[in-house]
Amino acid sequence: MKESDFAEQRKRLVREIVAGGSLKSENVKRAFLSVPREKFFPKEIAAHAYSDDAFPIGLRQTISQPSTIAVMLEMLQAREGQKVLEVGSGSGYVAALLSEIAGKNGAVFGIELLHELHERAAGTIAELGYENVFLRCGDGRTGWKEEAPFDRILVSAATGEAPKQLAKQLAEGGRLVVPVGNILSQEMVLIEKEKGKAVEKERRCCFVFVPLR
Ligand code: SAH
Repeated sequence: MKESDFAEQRKRLVREIVAGGSLKSENVKRAFLSVPREKFFPKEIAAHAYSDDAFPIGLRQTISQPSTIAVMLEMLQAREGQKVLEVGSGSGYVAALLSEIAGKNGAVFGIELLHELHERAAGTIAELGYENVFLRCGDGRTGWKEEAPFDRILVSAATGEAPKQLAKQLAEGGRLVVPVGNILSQEMVLIEKEKGKAVEKERRCCFVFVPLR
């Protein structure tokens, strides 16, 4: 498929997600319109990059469904100039979206547990020239202490309960979005740091993520 065909499909997908009600903010829309999702796909299935579904990216992991990512990003409300952490950066696609939102005065830090996925994501991010994205391989449950505090933290894998260690790395007024639940279904939970405390603000049902391990 040609680049221009992908660009057309990207617009159609954004229209679809907007119509579905999950995508509202201009900065999130712009991010979806500029990041080439096909580049984060294994070549054999790149033609499917603009259907609103999760797809396998190898090692039994998936690139999340665009409308689900839209819900997470709307809850996260990341802004230009912010420092953002993503736990479970997988293919790097969501990190790229966050890179567009945070802009050149902001920065995105992504942690991925599986070495092979980390390597591939780092290659894609470098190839596409996202200079404000920093990726590392490791266990993201303990966050990224050297870079804390973060204005925003997004967890892209499911967990049994809201991760306390990550909440500690939130800046005052910062937001953390995390899918919390069991293996079959999770709620998207928004936590805000208020006067030094992690306070739950919102929950939305229902999503299915691969587990945080
Ligand atoms: N945001 C990703 C979606 C990846 S799916 C994308 O845009 O492609 C969730 C990812 O979390 C998987 O790649 C999985 O390997 C990773 N993961 C699971 N447990 C983790 C942990 N403890 N630390 C870091 N990454 C983890």
